[in-house]
Amino acid sequence: MRLQINASILEIIEGDITQQDTEAIVNAANEQLRVGGGVDGAINRAGGPAIQAEARQIGYCPTGQAVITTGGNLKAKYVIHTVGPIYRGGASGEPELLASCYRESLKLASTRGIKSLAFPSISTGVYGYPMAEAAHIALKTVKEYLEEHPEITLVRFVLFGQPAYEIYAKELEGLRT
Ligand code: ADP
Repeated sequence: MRLQINASILEIIEGDITQQDTEAIVNAANEQLRVGGGVDGAINRAGGPAIQAEARQIGYCPTGQAVITTGGNLKAKYVIHTVGPIYRGGASGEPELLASCYRESLKLASTRGIKSLAFPSISTGVYGYPMAEAAHIALKTVKEYLEEHPEITLVRFVLFGQPAYEIYAKELEGLRT
């Protein structure tokens, strides 16, 4: 399912982010930039040790910010690592921090001349963010960014499993105005 925003595309698919051929894929990292489980583990396994080697050189990324490394053996040339908030009930700045993850990742892409990128659903695994709330923030933030930044031509959300896809599809439908 896709939404056209000026000349840019915002799309959602069900799939595996490690297999995407966008110029960059985004990783749901932790502040220490150490290999974890979930999507982080999958990206590092598929991309090989070069990703973690560069991440260790960078060393740290605060929650809500983003850093960039090589894509190693992935089809994507780059991995943008962003650190989502751990969900603690929603009144501890989580919505703002989650929006910041998407915005900062997109800004980094714009700065580096990256035109296409794929996001997983940040914070909705181990970090516990409720999927529908996270989907709303994710899609709204990306839509607003694309409205102002035509240099990014494609943003693809890659949802892991049908239930996640369905939730994102419903939220994306709600953004069609
Ligand atoms: P976080 O710590 O930010 O919650 P997780 O990696 O635990 O990160 O989960 C983030 C989301 O990524 C979850 O919704 C999970 O289902 C999804 N996910 C896990 N593996 C993949 C994959 N290979 N491709 C896309 N999404 C994935």
